Amino acid sequence: MRPCPLCQAADWQPSWEKAGERYMRCASCGFIVADLSPVRFERLNESTFEELRESYIERSYDPRRQARYERRLAWIERRVGVGRLLEVGAGVGGFLHAARRRGWEVVGVEPVAACAHWARTHQGLDVRVGSIESIALERDHFDAAYGHAVLEHLTDPLGALRAVARALRPGGVSWFDTVNARSYSAERLGPDWKLIDPALHYCLWTPTTLRRACERAGLEVVTVRSHGVRLRANALGRPRGLARGLDEVRKLPLSAAARWTLRGESIAVLARRPARGVRPEPVGTAVAAAS
Ligand SMILES: [Zn+2]
Repeated sequence: MRPCPLCQAADWQPSWEKAGERYMRCASCGFIVADLSPVRFERLNESTFEELRESYIERSYDPRRQARYERRLAWIERRVGVGRLLEVGAGVGGFLHAARRRGWEVVGVEPVAACAHWARTHQGLDVRVGSIESIALERDHFDAAYGHAVLEHLTDPLGALRAVARALRPGGVSWFDTVNARSYSAERLGPDWKLIDPALHYCLWTPTTLRRACERAGLEVVTVRSHGVRLRANALGRPRGLARGLDEVRKLPLSAAARWTLRGESIAVLARRPARGVRPEPVGTAVAAAS
């Protein structure tokens, strides 16, 4: 097992297992990483997303989804106005498409060539193929960076966040959301929860590791938020009728608490590149306070 991608420690403890693959938890900082080589994981991920491409096209260009993107963009615009946007993990370009319509100048990076190619040829979007840390991006350039459900797929998350920090202009903001390994859902369902899957999600975050990674990358954390509770394994399907009502009632106190305890199934971090240079910590500095 390689050193921890966040703190470089090499002291691992076994964590969740699923379908013959397992996660390991860093004893030093609490980061959870799949026990797979990055190359093998990236190959698995690439084939999964190639297969899903058509359904992503349908979903991300659906008018309701586009309206949701618009609401997120309006939220970002309240902080930095309309300017230059970088999307990490742009997929087939649905979010960039919505942003361009609102006047943003947009660039995406996307490691799955089949998705990036579709966004370029069918939507005329500037989506570059590769991982963000491998692409020569403009420096000090973007007003905002955005990544929805992407951090859990990265094999070098700190390298990616550092690349984001370099690409943002001083005062520019980044927004990322990801799976919360410290959520009520993870605690109750463990690997029965579809998001806990070493073959699909390389790393699993907590509010603490997410905050720490941003800080180490040279970003200043503005807020960390969390929401969403799931109490039933995905394999059981959605409850109906009375069962659904009871499910909702059971979830209510946890859903309300999740906003304060940061134990919802999704965590999101809004961070900012400091207006005057704050240097990223050197690689190898231990990360304190495991959660
Ligand atoms: Zn660590």
